[in-house]
Amino acid sequence: TTAIVWLRRDLRIFDNAALYTALKNADQVVLAFVFDTTILADLPKQDRRVEFIWEALKDIKTALRQYNTDIVIRHGDPLVEIPALAEQYNASAVYCNRDYEPAAIQRDGYVAEALKQQGRYFNTYKDQVIFEQDEVLTQSGTMYSVFSPYKRAWLNKLDGKAMKSWPVNKFIHKLMPMKMQYFPSLKELGFAKTNLSELKIPLGMAGAEKLFEDFKNRIDDYKEARDFPAVKGVSYLSVHLRFGTVSIRELVNYAYHHGGAGAETWLSELIWREFYQQILWHRPDVVEHAFKPEYDALPFPNHPELFAAWCRGETGYPLVDAAMRQLNQTGYMHNRLRMVVASFLVKDLLIDWRWGEKYFAEHLLDFDLAANNGGWQWAASTGCDAQPYFRIFNPVSQSEKFDPQGKFIRRYCPELADLPDAAIHAPWEAKASTRRSANFLQDTDYFPPIVDHAEQREAALALFKAAKG
Ligand code: FAD
Repeated sequence: TTAIVWLRRDLRIFDNAALYTALKNADQVVLAFVFDTTILADLPKQDRRVEFIWEALKDIKTALRQYNTDIVIRHGDPLVEIPALAEQYNASAVYCNRDYEPAAIQRDGYVAEALKQQGRYFNTYKDQVIFEQDEVLTQSGTMYSVFSPYKRAWLNKLDGKAMKSWPVNKFIHKLMPMKMQYFPSLKELGFAKTNLSELKIPLGMAGAEKLFEDFKNRIDDYKEARDFPAVKGVSYLSVHLRFGTVSIRELVNYAYHHGGAGAETWLSELIWREFYQQILWHRPDVVEHAFKPEYDALPFPNHPELFAAWCRGETGYPLVDAAMRQLNQTGYMHNRLRMVVASFLVKDLLIDWRWGEKYFAEHLLDFDLAANNGGWQWAASTGCDAQPYFRIFNPVSQSEKFDPQGKFIRRYCPELADLPDAAIHAPWEAKASTRRSANFLQDTDYFPPIVDHAEQREAALALFKAAKG
């Protein structure tokens, strides 16, 4: 028998549940990937993620050469392409790893149906997470909506089996031998090159491994270093987790056995990832609606010009602006800053969190529906946060606390480079460098603050209070 393994957000050929199981069960296996035109059609024609995927596939192709085989790549609608491939190779089944996003669930349902009509199986596996769907539930069998008890239950359930890797290597010789296959260029896919290569992000399976090896040297410091955007304190593995160029089991296994405060804190972040995945699984309505229904229709004023200034990094609040410019220039933003800019958009600019969520979805290289939605709803106080809505970040004190010397700010806001450390967090209060101007802002191209934090804070509190009734 022949099987097809359809790779999606699991772009690796080691420790892969669907690939391992297909290799074990079938006589020969064809590896396939589809550049999905229904997804690509909505993307800007320069998109770092498309390029990241392209590079990851290139890495897979290189790795497959030693086994005299290749990956079959198609450009089209998977609803058409997958049944067509199954037909072409006369496969008895298509194997893939489960994707929990509502659109993916729907797509997979259609593909399964089309294959069924051809008399073929569609076999799906858990691979992307340690625990999925209904595996971690409360005593009364309901979903967790608070992180701490979810984490406790998750850790209680964690055992060697859950972390065990799928030894693809054992059967890899069963990949069907084939000549080099067609590999569409970015241009053929309708995309132009981005600045991805200039960013020097390690790419593909090899890149993920390199990043992880580097992080192992720093994991003990993670707890202290993780909150400072100017410090290399985090793992930078999010994009690799998003596209599966790394295995979650390998990461969890390492963190769990390494132990210590750094590794434990990092493991906690990996659990946050699964927490939001299970929220999305149980409550797919969060894609458009507030997790807490009472805050679904807050009457935000939604001023477009304030939103535009936030997007461009021109709000006059240096930490917010530096963070937004980091996102625009690199597709990445540090976690502390994601919280700061999200809180700022919702509670200082009084703009619907869905606007910010969408902007992040368009620009983040590591964009993940569950984590992004969860993060935005958390920051907007509409989601799974044990804290009430009156948690409002002060953009100046966050800046003083987490970028005390303004190192990060200076990197992305060069207009402020000459300001002394203490003045960089609120440049509107800084003295002028010449006698001719009244204050610092008159000497530079930087912006006065577009809103007054104290005033907006009160307005935000009133908005939430009214909704709560
Ligand atoms: P590390 O600190 O090294 O953490 C390791 C991994 O844990 C991350 O790669 C990620 O997979 C996971 N993780 C860490 N924090 C979180 C979290 N709060 N929620 C869920 N998973 C987490 N993460 C995304 O992967 N994609 C997104 O689209 C995304 N959008 C976000 C939006 C907002 C408003 C907020 C507040 C957070 C968002 N996050 C998102 C979570 C987090 O900011 C990133 O995962 C993290 O900054 C990535 O950097 P890292 O890989 O170095 O993280």
